[in-house]
Amino acid sequence: MANQQDTVYDQTIERLKAKGIRITPQRVAIIRFMIASVAHPTAEMIYAALAPDFPHMSVATVYNNLMLLIDLGLVEEMNIGDVATHYDFALAPHYHAVCTNCGRIVDFVYSGMSDVENVAAGKTGFAVTGHHLEVYGLCPDCQRKLKLTNTKPAVTA
Ligand code: ZN
Ligand code: MN
Repeated sequence: MANQQDTVYDQTIERLKAKGIRITPQRVAIIRFMIASVAHPTAEMIYAALAPDFPHMSVATVYNNLMLLIDLGLVEEMNIGDVATHYDFALAPHYHAVCTNCGRIVDFVYSGMSDVENVAAGKTGFAVTGHHLEVYGLCPDCQRKLKLTNTKPAVTA
């Protein structure tokens, strides 16, 4: 995985250079953090993680870099019903399971949805450019916390 992340990082830096965008240490740190993260962080979470290394960085710097990466199609903005916007580095197409208790967002891949854009185009006449799918529920930790794992009655002899 580390090699794949390095490749994505190199490609990202090449894209930025090709656009004449300056490669600053803060920008590098934000890009590396986003590529490595599986947590779908908010701007505040990214800021909190990087602030110890960049004491002069502001949350606005994080936002500006996220907007830049969104414009380039490298990062996706996620609005999943809670107040804060989450961000996801667009490595490969995938879907999200969202915990309604703790807000955790977990990636999953499912190829069975590949048809949905054709169906939507056929039924609506839209020139479809993409789709999103979120499923909602309780993550394993929250199921345990809320003691919902042992809902089946215990077997008695
Ligand atoms: Zn949870
Ligand atoms: Mn994701």
